[in-house]
Amino acid sequence: METDVATDQAKNPLDVYWDYVRSGRFAIPSCRKCQKKFLPPRRFCPACGSEDIGWRESQGRGSVYTYTVIHSAPNEGLKAEVPYVIALADIEDLGTGSRFYARVFDVDPSDIYTGLPVKVVIRSDRNGDSLPVLVPREDA
Ligand SMILES: [Zn+2]
Repeated sequence: METDVATDQAKNPLDVYWDYVRSGRFAIPSCRKCQKKFLPPRRFCPACGSEDIGWRESQGRGSVYTYTVIHSAPNEGLKAEVPYVIALADIEDLGTGSRFYARVFDVDPSDIYTGLPVKVVIRSDRNGDSLPVLVPREDA
């Protein structure tokens, strides 16, 4: 379902994306001219160059395309959380040409595999900020 949030074409697409995230929703830009859906958010359609970009809320269903297990924390705040998984996922609503990159929660690093069914959910990080993350999909 397309919403009217992004009818404000002057707004930075990244701001629109994060507005959705803060409201607990995962939405992706959708070209109104050629219907291409893409990430990351940008002002122009990567397929046809149109600036007529709408937004569609996504179910966020997908599967792990590739992943890495982080064993060495990039900062002090993450030291207690290693090992953890970062994945690049194919998202059904995106079609081809774009993938979604995020941390994977609720999975033991030894249980992750290419093709693992996942979905995007919005979680709060340790600072209370909303963040889109991946979790294993129960309905797969
Ligand atoms: Zn387009």
